[in-house]
Amino acid sequence: GSTLEIKDLHVEIEGQEILKGVNLTIKGGEFHAVMGPNGTGKSTLASAIMGHPKYEITKGSIILDGEDVLEMEVDERARAGLFLAMQYPSEISGVTNSDFLRSSINAKRGEGNEIPLMQFIKEMDATMDLLEMDKNMAQRYLNEGFSGGEKKRNEILQLMMLKPAIAILDEIDSGLDIDALKVVSKGINQMRSDEFGCLIITHYQRLLNYITPDHVHVMMQGRIVKSGGPELAERLEAEGYDWIKKELGIED
Ligand code: ADP
Ligand code: MG
Ligand code: MG
Repeated sequence: GSTLEIKDLHVEIEGQEILKGVNLTIKGGEFHAVMGPNGTGKSTLASAIMGHPKYEITKGSIILDGEDVLEMEVDERARAGLFLAMQYPSEISGVTNSDFLRSSINAKRGEGNEIPLMQFIKEMDATMDLLEMDKNMAQRYLNEGFSGGEKKRNEILQLMMLKPAIAILDEIDSGLDIDALKVVSKGINQMRSDEFGCLIITHYQRLLNYITPDHVHVMMQGRIVKSGGPELAERLEAEGYDWIKKELGIED
């Protein structure tokens, strides 16, 4: 499996420091959850790992299997095995879901090693079945007019077909009803293997009833302030974040 190492990461947006020294290591075979109140920098962490141009890294490092991720372009990061399911996936008009997915897979596999069309169709069909997706979703323009739940299922379809080494799922549970949540969780759980590591960003504990993380981290004010096992998520569900603030002497 792969190893993604984030060390002392400081990130600014438009001159304002949002991440103030994040340390986190994710290895193949591990599921990590990052939880925390709104506005603490969870999505900033995801975007910085994926190389969103708006996020300026002012200090620290992100290393994937010894390679400097911060030196890679966005498409290189994907080819190196990183995957981001965004909190708000963008719509691309004029590109069908199926074409987008196939070109993403082929970009990752590289020239001369393209996925055979029939194999692609077969895999996509089976994966859409598992995710209980309507087959006509394949031929619709990417995310255009997709409902919240359809967008999230579609992110997991991409995840399952691209088979990244390390995935970052930013609030994949937001806006999902319980049935969609179960289906999405089933897809993510099916990815579990030594060749796959996952960072699950979530505001709510609910998702973690279906996906059991090996490690739970709490982010507050741009830092990971506490780490533990699944029991930490349960305590947050029961008691909220105030006890951590008290424990650490953090003011709102
Ligand atoms: P979370 O995902 O934990 O809710 P975010 O990472 O989205 O938090 O946001 C952290 C902080 O950064 C917030 O104060 C937010 O207002 C600010 N922020 C996030 N994105 C931008 C942006 N594109 N431009 C300006 N400020 C931003
Ligand atoms: Mg948020
Ligand atoms: Mg967010």
